[in-house]
Amino acid sequence: MSYKYLKNKKLNKTIAKKRIEKLFKLAEEKAFSNKLSLADRYVELARKISMRYRVSIPREFRRKFCKNCYRYLQPGVNARVRLTSGKLVIYCRNCREFTRIPIKNRR
Ligand SMILES: [Zn+2]
Repeated sequence: MSYKYLKNKKLNKTIAKKRIEKLFKLAEEKAFSNKLSLADRYVELARKISMRYRVSIPREFRRKFCKNCYRYLQPGVNARVRLTSGKLVIYCRNCREFTRIPIKNRR
């Protein structure tokens, strides 16, 4: 593995992460104006980028879509969010599945 390759790989990951962030922001905007199908599309694109470049989706965005059907979750519209014993429980109305996200103690 050459130095140049490693450098490019790192750069690609940085770009991929920025694109993921941008896509989630767009998804948020669409969901806010009740265009959830468009928001779903942005989530799909963000997931594809994350898989292709093997970058993880940032934590703040991971709770914004369903881990089962990958649809964008808008609390009060197609999702219900509850906090139980240190876990964030998100109920998806599209596939009727619960997603549990542990909340770590932040110091
Ligand atoms: Zn779902």
